[in-house]
Amino acid sequence: MRCVGEAGISWQNQLMANRRERHTKLRVAGFEVDVVRKGVKNLNLSVRPPDGRVRLSMPHSVSNGEAREFVMSRLAWIDRQRSTIADRVPLPTSRYVDGDVVSVWGIERTIRVDTTVGRRGANLDGVDLVLSIRDGDATERRVGLVDDLLRSELRGALPDLIAFWESVIGVDVAEWRLRKMTTRWGSCNISKRRIWLNVELATRDPESLESVVVHEMIHLVERRHNARFYGLMDRYLPDWRDRRAALNESPPPVRSAP
Ligand SMILES: [Zn+2]
Repeated sequence: MRCVGEAGISWQNQLMANRRERHTKLRVAGFEVDVVRKGVKNLNLSVRPPDGRVRLSMPHSVSNGEAREFVMSRLAWIDRQRSTIADRVPLPTSRYVDGDVVSVWGIERTIRVDTTVGRRGANLDGVDLVLSIRDGDATERRVGLVDDLLRSELRGALPDLIAFWESVIGVDVAEWRLRKMTTRWGSCNISKRRIWLNVELATRDPESLESVVVHEMIHLVERRHNARFYGLMDRYLPDWRDRRAALNESPPPVRSAP
């Protein structure tokens, strides 16, 4: 007959064993994996922001060789996770009415709606962003005008920025384009040496734009988010992690009037 007390002790021993974690590091395919051996039944792989570190938790009984083999079999998945983390962009919300706050180059501007019978437009005026619209214009029209302003700001800033980094990295960008993107700050077509940049970048500080430009330009040298890619990022832009964190943690570029 089993005694309740015994069962209690063995359960506690099991709990203690589960809590005993052993942390090691393993090099696989040129990058470092944080390995945690603990009281789990399965191997569990995760890729963590902001720099895509790979963590593997697994039972104590799994050898380094088996762990390495497991990671090797999931390289494509790791690459996909890293792309998602590296290029993720938080979604903005927008209404563009009087008193709303819009950031341009990281500086908050208050929208002042100015009804006109003349030319429509969005213009910076001191700390304000003046939206000249006509009576009855729909929200989409306001969004479009702010969008035009952001695009023209980027068109003004990008040629010099890209030319500078072309000479530093030693790559040639054949073409850059702007696009509204909901999930990425930037992307690139490596074979065409073309980079795409999110129009929203004009709402963030110029250092954020630079970090995204450098990220995409380094993809022209190294396609994947691997150790070589992050090594180049570290070499050219040592504070890229801070810039990336600031980019993803900054408040939404458009806030509704209180
Ligand atoms: Zn990328």
